[in-house]
Amino acid sequence: MGERSLILGAGIAGLCAAMALSGRGRTITVLDRDPPPPDLDPDAAFADWSRRGVTQLRHSHVFIGRLISLLRARQPALWRALTDAGARESTFADALPPTLRAQYAYAPGDEDMSFLFSRRSTLELIMRRHAGALPDVTFVTDAFVEGPLFARRDGALALEGVRGTLAGAKTEWRADAVIDAMGRTSQFTDWLAAEGAPVPEESTPAGILYFTRHYRLHDGAEEPPRGLTPGAGDLGYLKYGVFIADNRHFSVTLACPEIESEMRVALPRGEVFDAACAHLPGVAPWTDPARAAPASKVFAMGALKNAWRHFLVEGAPLVRNYFPIGDAAVRTNPLYGRGCSTGAIQAFLLGDVFNEMTDPAQRLAALDGRVRAEIRPFFDAMVRQDAQAIRRAARERAPDGRTPRWRARAMKSFIEDAVGPASRGDLVVLRALMRGFHMHEGPAAWLRRPAVLARVLAAWARPRAAKAHLYPPPLGPARGEMLAALGVPAGGA
Ligand SMILES: Cc1cc2nc3c(=O)[nH]c(=O)nc-3n(C[C@H](O)[C@H](O)[C@H](O)COP(=O)(O)OP(=O)(O)OC[C@H]3O[C@@H](n4cnc5c(N)ncnc54)[C@H](O)[C@@H]3O)c2cc1C
Repeated sequence: MGERSLILGAGIAGLCAAMALSGRGRTITVLDRDPPPPDLDPDAAFADWSRRGVTQLRHSHVFIGRLISLLRARQPALWRALTDAGARESTFADALPPTLRAQYAYAPGDEDMSFLFSRRSTLELIMRRHAGALPDVTFVTDAFVEGPLFARRDGALALEGVRGTLAGAKTEWRADAVIDAMGRTSQFTDWLAAEGAPVPEESTPAGILYFTRHYRLHDGAEEPPRGLTPGAGDLGYLKYGVFIADNRHFSVTLACPEIESEMRVALPRGEVFDAACAHLPGVAPWTDPARAAPASKVFAMGALKNAWRHFLVEGAPLVRNYFPIGDAAVRTNPLYGRGCSTGAIQAFLLGDVFNEMTDPAQRLAALDGRVRAEIRPFFDAMVRQDAQAIRRAARERAPDGRTPRWRARAMKSFIEDAVGPASRGDLVVLRALMRGFHMHEGPAAWLRRPAVLARVLAAWARPRAAKAHLYPPPLGPARGEMLAALGVPAGGA
């Protein structure tokens, strides 16, 4: 019999791991606490599929180029099934600002910079059906993992499987390799700590709460034309985004700083949420009642953070035969839309490592090194950005009247007067930026290309009047104005 691989969790990382490990003579078992996907269309699945294990299932999700490239290259039949189910590819050309459309000509690599427009529930439904059809993969549903089966081998801790309940009855699952894809609620860190092997974790707050509402375009209604006002933006006291999805659906997320205690209490109310949308020029044309109607209540979610867990200590695994991937290992602020891509990257790297070597310690070390090389630069950049956003939100709420230091002013001007106009007026710059955005190269790689940097600096040097057409209109009202319009007390200072 081939290697027995036990995957805990059938979310994005677990499903990708099943696909990545398949086809090499292994026996692959995937456990999940939730029921199987219903034999329903995407709209009914969105409404009815019980996914208590994935509380973010009904929040906005954007799927970026790296995930799409991986799925398209490694699982072409899955890609076709997704588009057949109503998910849509939005290409680099489709997403261009109006200022660049006329000069667009295809360049190699543009095909890696597509978005997939889909509800998370639709993506997961189709991925799950695809993985379920693989002959060497077995799903066991309503299977709740409750604890590890640890053993000591030559003094070292090893994982032999897990125990739990299957449809209410106590049971055990044993395997040669256990892949933890139970997401951010995985309890392995607690179980390892109880065994005397605490897991070092770097953790920083995302500083925001997520509020999401789904909408459906009326029959016959078109999506609003894309102008220079972006469908996503940051007002300091509020971040927002329109997420286009499948089958005429889209959602809006309003990300409220944690310190905005009055606003966070008000936003879950549908009428307040819709009123906030109506005051955001990039969102209002979408949620206009003449064009679309709400298709859900407002979903709220907090306790969002960035976390990187270390399962190798001084080069040795804390526990042998244990391979954490996805949110169980690395968690990022959802605002950046990278969690599913990082989960998929880890899962396919795991598949490569498993195919290349057999020793569990070597496998974990190789996985750790490759994941670090691919994902760590993004993680570090997101942590830095979140810290800045938290400081900015505090200043918006309680301005201290101080003039920012020259460094902060120069950085603001570089973003607003150089990078912004250059990316709206110069295809070379936009391409370079978007390759990092879609995780095809490091987030700062574009800055190290002299030709790109020169174009950005040239945009900075241009007088403002000469680039006035490359600035977006105001993204929304000032904080006080918005709160007054929503009838929310200002709090703060
Ligand atoms: C509000 C929000 C919005 C997000 N938006 C985006 C986005 O726009 N784009 C993006 O790429 N990412 C986004 N993310 C991140 C993304 O959702 C996660 O990174 C991704 O789902 C992680 O995949 P995973 O497989 O590791 O975990 P999950 O997808 O959470 O799956 C975990 C699985 O484990 C199962 N499970 C858990 N505990 C047990 C147990 N004890 N026994 C058995 N099974 C168990 C669950 O049922 C579930 O199926 C968002 C996250 C949040 C919170």
